[in-house]
Amino acid sequence: MTQLEYKLHIDSIIERVEKARLGVGMNGHHIVKIVAVSKYSTSEEIKALYEIGQRAFGENKVQDLAKKAEELDELPLEWHFIGNLQKNKINQLIKINPFLFQSLDSLDLALELDKRLEAHGSKMEALLQINSAYEETKSGVMPEAAIDTYNEIASTCKNIHLKGVMSIGAHTDDKDIVKKSFETTHDIYTKLDGATICSMGMSGDFELAISCGSNMVRIGSLMFNK
Ligand SMILES: *Cc1c(COP(=O)(O)O)cnc(C)c1O
Repeated sequence: MTQLEYKLHIDSIIERVEKARLGVGMNGHHIVKIVAVSKYSTSEEIKALYEIGQRAFGENKVQDLAKKAEELDELPLEWHFIGNLQKNKINQLIKINPFLFQSLDSLDLALELDKRLEAHGSKMEALLQINSAYEETKSGVMPEAAIDTYNEIASTCKNIHLKGVMSIGAHTDDKDIVKKSFETTHDIYTKLDGATICSMGMSGDFELAISCGSNMVRIGSLMFNK
């Protein structure tokens, strides 16, 4: 793809997001942010997308995030961490100081993270990941426990600033089941005090996610044309 073709490709994704968000109604006030998931991509590819105008990027491994954030240190990028955080990687993530940690998936992890943040004199903004599709292979708190867990973290972990929820749609071709998982997450989101981010939707299902109320989509393979 030439640079022009790539720009047109990105424009077509933005247009799809626009169409989906205008379909939500609210007189066009439902704003959706695109996070480009760069986990399959190199720093050069991230830079090419930045030059088209993309600022927010997401990685799912702390080592990869550390490497790319360092390689691209000159650029004013906004980094999102979207993967499973092992406790032995917490300090490394704190040092990177991501814009948003989207995949906080248990009270236990929150307590440990909060303790390390306190020791570093740092704060972190985070989303609670919800396993709305009830899939064993996925991380996240179960929908029934989500509101209590969210409130517990908000009240006990002073160094973590919870901003909302994240989830991955059900892993199936059955749109009704995917939709149901998004609705479950959005329903929880609306019941949380002060939450402003509902992150759901990926390359294959972002329009459906937006129609269910998502205001942050994480698009990887499609954004990088992989
Ligand atoms: C990889 C990943 C994405 C992006 O997936 P695509 O299907 O490539 O768009 C979004 N969210 C999470 C948590 C991921 O791990």
